[in-house]
Amino acid sequence: MGEDSYIANKPAGAPHIAPTKPEERVYPLPPQAVRSSPNFAVYLPLRELCCSYLDPERLPLIDQAFLTADRAHDGQKRASGEPYIIHPVAVATIIAQMHLDAESIEAALLHDVVEDTFITQDDIKRDFGAAVMELVNGVTKLDKLRFHDYREAQAENFRKMILAMTRDIRVILIKLADRTHNMRTLGNLRPDKRKRIARETLDIFAPIAYRLGISDIKVELEELGLAALYPMRYRVLKAAVTKARNNRKEVVNTILEAIKKRLNEVKIPARVLGREKRIYSIYKKMVHKELQFREIMDVYGFRIVVNDVDTCYRVLGQMHNLFKPRPGLFKDYIAVPKINGYQSLHTSLVGPHGVPIEVQIRTEFMDQMSARGVAAHWSYKENGSEPTSTAAQKNAQRWIKNLIDLQQSASSSQEFIENVKTDLFPDAIYVFTPEGKIYDLPAGATPVDFAYAVHTDIGQHCIGARVNHRMFPLSRALESGQTIEIITAPNAQPSAMWLSSAVTSKARSKIRQYLKGLKAQECVLIGRRLLQNTLKGVRLDEIPQERINTILKEFKEPDFNQLLIDIALGNLLTVIVARRLQGDLPLPDEKRQPIVGTEGLPFTFAQCCQPIPGDHIIAHITPGKGLVIHNYNCLNIRDQDKDPDKFLNVEWDQSVTANMDFQTGLRIELENRQGILSEISNAVDLAGSRIESINSEIKDESTYIIRLTVTVRDRLHLAGVMRRIKAIPNVQKIFRQR
Ligand code: MN
Repeated sequence: MGEDSYIANKPAGAPHIAPTKPEERVYPLPPQAVRSSPNFAVYLPLRELCCSYLDPERLPLIDQAFLTADRAHDGQKRASGEPYIIHPVAVATIIAQMHLDAESIEAALLHDVVEDTFITQDDIKRDFGAAVMELVNGVTKLDKLRFHDYREAQAENFRKMILAMTRDIRVILIKLADRTHNMRTLGNLRPDKRKRIARETLDIFAPIAYRLGISDIKVELEELGLAALYPMRYRVLKAAVTKARNNRKEVVNTILEAIKKRLNEVKIPARVLGREKRIYSIYKKMVHKELQFREIMDVYGFRIVVNDVDTCYRVLGQMHNLFKPRPGLFKDYIAVPKINGYQSLHTSLVGPHGVPIEVQIRTEFMDQMSARGVAAHWSYKENGSEPTSTAAQKNAQRWIKNLIDLQQSASSSQEFIENVKTDLFPDAIYVFTPEGKIYDLPAGATPVDFAYAVHTDIGQHCIGARVNHRMFPLSRALESGQTIEIITAPNAQPSAMWLSSAVTSKARSKIRQYLKGLKAQECVLIGRRLLQNTLKGVRLDEIPQERINTILKEFKEPDFNQLLIDIALGNLLTVIVARRLQGDLPLPDEKRQPIVGTEGLPFTFAQCCQPIPGDHIIAHITPGKGLVIHNYNCLNIRDQDKDPDKFLNVEWDQSVTANMDFQTGLRIELENRQGILSEISNAVDLAGSRIESINSEIKDESTYIIRLTVTVRDRLHLAGVMRRIKAIPNVQKIFRQR
């Protein structure tokens, strides 16, 4: 969900502690009653933390809150057997680490007294004021809500929580601190209770912390949640991460030093940190993006923190100069902050020996905001100065205002919840069955994903979908709020094509499983047909056995049937096998495909429009031929709106195409004269291009039409070629042929 959570130079999830203000202040000593409490030692560090940033006048009430809680909880024990007061003090400490105001700290200390002890609301109101009482009330109410799972119909509970939050956001901050401490001490609970709380934390509280921009808490809740929910997976991943970190140390240091040296040379003061990936973030990538552990750990992350925004962009320039940037992967979250207010520059670079590097560049202020988010709002209020309005704070306020508006306009609590969830879990969509049952799916999910989510059998026999009562392509992404009806047929079977658009791991693994289970014999037949269709003019059985043996070795296939099976299953590209069989192409590096999104299906470039990198492209699925890549606007595929199931969205992979040539057609109208053809060929040559074929025809008595096929790298290159041709005297018009 959004920015990766890496933190350097801090123990896992430890909240940020701002440095103590240097000026001397006199703090009131704790009163005798506080000092004589047997739990004074528990309270002392919290008190010192409060002294470091709060007005000294605030301390007596905080002392009082500690005393009240200490006495009220006297004799109560936590599941660990320790005195109960440890818990409210720990919660208040988290609140103080966020530098929240004195009222929040008092409320945190008192948050469990009304529920569990003889102290009443009125007592709190009398001793600490109405604001603190409201905060304690809010937290107490939230405590009674149980969120088993946001999929379940917990609408009413969820609404209450959101409403508590809209009244005073400090309530939810205290609740988050409460949850954080409970998660830290989860080990003492019964396993079933532990799992329920961990699930609820990952489903509800971590997303709320993220939405409020408090990444310190979000990260800690996620790590603890994963460890509690899947202890084995967590341990295995953690061991793997520790090992990988040790192996990476040297590379990290080399890059770190290179960055520091460069910034030093250009005299930019900066903090440079190596970022470590969080275990939860690795886990999520492995599950949702189906990435291998190695692929995730192979990326080296760094963060550069500087003093002001201008310097961020200067550092970016320096980094792009130091290491080669990877095109298209630069993100400016400073100019356009994320929805939770997060700001930073992100870029991807190619490091020494081709090591992929990710760099985040931000100011100290942005760094603080990303750790503390909306909580930063209260930070300096106590010093008497006006709080600085931060992006995170503005966002949170806007969000809360929206929630109130929504609450007033929603016709039902169900509708309200839908709106809030879409907002809180932006990576998810919520869709309905015709009976009104709700399903949550990752963004980008298609009707096929939905069908498999409802039931594997429905997925396996799905032939079409109606969305809001209209026919809807199986490959198109769904949107929140849609009602989906899946059409099935008893004899229908999953299609390999679905793999190119389905996003849920359930659908994808079931489709793969089905394809694998296809009878080998069927696959051999399909593979043979695909291959024969692609071998232009050559019959499969005319190819000498010797040649076939060489190919089998190259593709590491045990026999010819297995090769055909892999073609049928989409594991091998038909075109490449065919070309190798005909002996006119070196074995390509299978990773180096110029097109992404083909899902391993074989593809060719359409002859009608001859797309080149930079063109908006789309893949047309041609039975037996695999994919044909067309220009999006190619006249030959105008039926795309009528039958979108025949099309796949694909994109160029610029890191691959940069080193490739593509053929495309030009149509030139000119007045014929001596030598003009050689001038054209000269111009093409000078532009760094090559003529592959040339044709001419007469348009009228003075005008000739020349059709050229030239090789170019991309649109930019082509534009250069066209410019040079256009500059030749007597050339009247030049168009790209498509
Ligand atoms: Mn509590």
